[in-house]
Amino acid sequence: MRLESRVYRPTEFLFLHGRKKQKYLQKQKMFPLRTKIEYPLGYFLMKVVKKIVGCINQNCIPWMQYSDFKNILMKKIFLSLFSLAVFGLQAQTDHTSFLNAIDANAAQYGTIAQTIWGYAEMGYQETKSSALLQETLAAEGFVIEKGIAGIPTAFSATYGTDGPVIAILGEYDALPGLSQKNLPYKVDNNTRAGHGCGHHLFGTASAAAAIAVKNYLKETGKAGTVKFFGCPAEEGGSGKVYMTRAGLFDDADVALHWHPNNKNAANPGAALANKSAKFRFYGRSAHAAAAPEQGRSALDGVESMNYMVNMMREHIPSSARIHYVITRGGEAPNVVPDFAEVYYYARHNRRDVVIDIFDRIVNTAKGAALGTGTTMDFEMIGGTHELLPNDVLQELMHKSLSQIGGFDYTSKENEFAKRIAETLEKPLNMAFVSGVEPYDPNALPMGSTDVGDVSFTVPTAGMGAATWVPGTPAHSWQAVATGGTTIGNKGMLVAAKTLALTAFKLLDNPKIMKEAHAEFLEKRGVDFKYIPLLGDRSPALDYRN
Ligand SMILES: [Zn+2]
Repeated sequence: MRLESRVYRPTEFLFLHGRKKQKYLQKQKMFPLRTKIEYPLGYFLMKVVKKIVGCINQNCIPWMQYSDFKNILMKKIFLSLFSLAVFGLQAQTDHTSFLNAIDANAAQYGTIAQTIWGYAEMGYQETKSSALLQETLAAEGFVIEKGIAGIPTAFSATYGTDGPVIAILGEYDALPGLSQKNLPYKVDNNTRAGHGCGHHLFGTASAAAAIAVKNYLKETGKAGTVKFFGCPAEEGGSGKVYMTRAGLFDDADVALHWHPNNKNAANPGAALANKSAKFRFYGRSAHAAAAPEQGRSALDGVESMNYMVNMMREHIPSSARIHYVITRGGEAPNVVPDFAEVYYYARHNRRDVVIDIFDRIVNTAKGAALGTGTTMDFEMIGGTHELLPNDVLQELMHKSLSQIGGFDYTSKENEFAKRIAETLEKPLNMAFVSGVEPYDPNALPMGSTDVGDVSFTVPTAGMGAATWVPGTPAHSWQAVATGGTTIGNKGMLVAAKTLALTAFKLLDNPKIMKEAHAEFLEKRGVDFKYIPLLGDRSPALDYRN
């Protein structure tokens, strides 16, 4: 725990003086502690003590004025109450041993994460990665349910049968073509997949947090259930959308998640709603020189569609995003291609805008087929809601992260980072690793995530930990490389401890969950009906084939 990035607990504050006290007050402005809600017993006792002190000062207890004996007695009572108040606060906040247990198992978690990094399995193909996490959780007494929502690599691991249900999300899919060694220079063998989004750390840290919460429930006897969700195919496969559609998150009271990042931050942020599909054009093959008039080019269909979409960009909201790759474009120039395929994404921070843009993209495909004498069909691949932030949970997550704090590199890690930073052409700002970013309620949406759909079902909060060298973008070889080192492992522990601490606080004070739920209903609307953006299709288990 680093002093400069931690928030003092109220009891510690009582013993602060001078500059330290000033510093504390400054921090309070940044991350105000909601003592009344987070430490109700301590808060109550502190109020009693305050009342008594007030009374003594104002001489409102008449016999106190003339009886030395009673005066001494009152002092004793006061002292006992004061100690009780201190004890009350401490008792409710003593999470240290459970957090230390995560650190004590750092080597084991590091091995699990690096094994999954080595597997580098893509969406819906994460058989070994999923099995390893299942084994880890089963060995800790979790009840495993696998193959949920019709997805072979999806699973849940549950501990507990009563009380509030805390869902912790974990991912473990890799990205195509990003394989890379854990070296600070690009190794050109990217024919295989690689963990460019750090999901090997994501799944492992979330499992570690779930185990810590299990231990907390077991040892404190508090009511509660912790449910780890093994969520496959986040990268374009929308795994959690099928899981949401199947009602798997319906009985959860909160959902916690995190993501590898180039800094430690727990902002509400947001994510863009997204619809993606593969458009397939079918034409007629012919010799491209000898009998072109007999051919109809499927690639012409794809190119005409792309042309129209690129014209359309002028007439959509400027904050929308459309991107595509041609996944099949024919085999040889002298053969008119009879099949071509283009894979599209449309994104915006409002799903109604995405739905509109996507419908217009479909129209361009229809027009392209008509004009080129080809036929067309399309397959929905993914569809995710934007993220619904929850300030109550998010502020709690931020406070937890601030208590856990960042970490430092060893000199060897520093050398590695310097070399990575050179390739990024960005200065290496270590404050992103050693500290925690101040809370920013207006952080901008970045990519898309299927956590969006979960966030419309259950109050959800997340955070990011500095698993990558500062300045590293996701989905880069630098992210893969660093994720395969001790830097990735260290960042992962920050995430595991932050998620666990947040869960401990929620279990200590279920009232926060009620508050979060009230905010959730207000923001989402009580009559909200969940309509998955990818419709009723079955999981696209072969989308990476
Ligand atoms: Zn990711």
